[in-house]
Amino acid sequence: MIEQLIADRAGAIDASGIRRIFNLASSLKDPINLSIGQPDFPVPAAIRDAAERAIQEHKNGYTLTQGDLSLLGRVTDWLKLDLGWDCAVTGQGEPGQPTAFITSGTSGALFLAFMALLNPGDECIIPDPYFVCYPHLATMCGAKAITCDTYPDFQLTAERVEPLITERTKFVLLNTPSNPSGVVMCKEECIKLRALCRSRGVLLITDEIYDEFVFSESLNDVAAGDNGLKRCPSPARVDGAHEDTLLIRGFGKTYGCTGWRLGYAAGPAAIIDQMSKLQQYTFVCAPAPLQAGVAESFDVSMSEHVSEYESRRDMVIDRLSKVTKVGTPGGAFYAFIEIPESLGLSGTQFAEKCIERELLVIPGGAFSARDTHFRISFATARDRLEKGLDILCELLGGE
Ligand code: PMP
Repeated sequence: MIEQLIADRAGAIDASGIRRIFNLASSLKDPINLSIGQPDFPVPAAIRDAAERAIQEHKNGYTLTQGDLSLLGRVTDWLKLDLGWDCAVTGQGEPGQPTAFITSGTSGALFLAFMALLNPGDECIIPDPYFVCYPHLATMCGAKAITCDTYPDFQLTAERVEPLITERTKFVLLNTPSNPSGVVMCKEECIKLRALCRSRGVLLITDEIYDEFVFSESLNDVAAGDNGLKRCPSPARVDGAHEDTLLIRGFGKTYGCTGWRLGYAAGPAAIIDQMSKLQQYTFVCAPAPLQAGVAESFDVSMSEHVSEYESRRDMVIDRLSKVTKVGTPGGAFYAFIEIPESLGLSGTQFAEKCIERELLVIPGGAFSARDTHFRISFATARDRLEKGLDILCELLGGE
């Protein structure tokens, strides 16, 4: 039996949660899809053109494992401006100087971080609700993701994390703005969480894939190198964070190129060097011509799209807060919505009811030990989103 050949690490991973919903939905011809986690705008022309040019100019071979040096230069300039980090070229830094490298998507960076840090039996702490892949990455390493309950405000506070730290804990993983809740970690909590991790000798990893999708009221910090540049809070911007914080960001969501598989990681050289070594034998390098494409992204403003998403966010909250409890997402393009207890439905049952009305949402149980909520994405055309909200308001028992 060929199945007997499968390794435990693959067998231990259960993909059934979301798959069941998509199986149910597969017979629908043109459902209103509020389940998609990618932007609904095209890749900006400057970025597309640069990638096309790179292909035509035969820049199709490998890059250095740490990435194309001109892209890496743009990333490290940005990290200097945004966070005040003075990143060295990999392998050439002074002791204590952070470094950065280009990865195959944010997922690539996360995978390499887990691989570089977790021994079998180790623990890491992740928020609950969490981005779906976090616990599975720990399982792949033979380690355990300990979930930190962040309901109802979805802040991964030091107070909530502290009791979960043991001698096996290697890192705490923060995601701000968050998938699935869109919640942005406040500055004070960023400072406290970083201080806790430092004092307990634990690495803080911050997954900031949605850092450019931040709405007005959450842009309440400023870039380290420019007081006029509003940014969302990040533990990586706290003084000295480059010594013990691993920052992971991506290009896919921000510029609508999730299929290009590009991101970056920056942090203590001792960790980045190990991740980069593991990249050499797995991903090898991120896609070369597409690296040339996203190098242009640093000159592209996405503010119009972010404003559009903010106004869709307002529409979602305006409609749904009349019928149930929903926190206001400060960023990303998701809302994580509580199903009123009076309905007596789990997230999965609610998602099934939505499918009966040709509407796709993701049950909260896909992101959490609880199945009391559901996630919608507002990266969906306005008219479709409005129709989806009409149905949700009806199903939630309001209008
Ligand atoms: N982190 C979070 C929080 C995400 O939501 C996603 C994608 N949905 C990823 C990481 C992975 O992104 P990428 O496509 O860049 O691998």
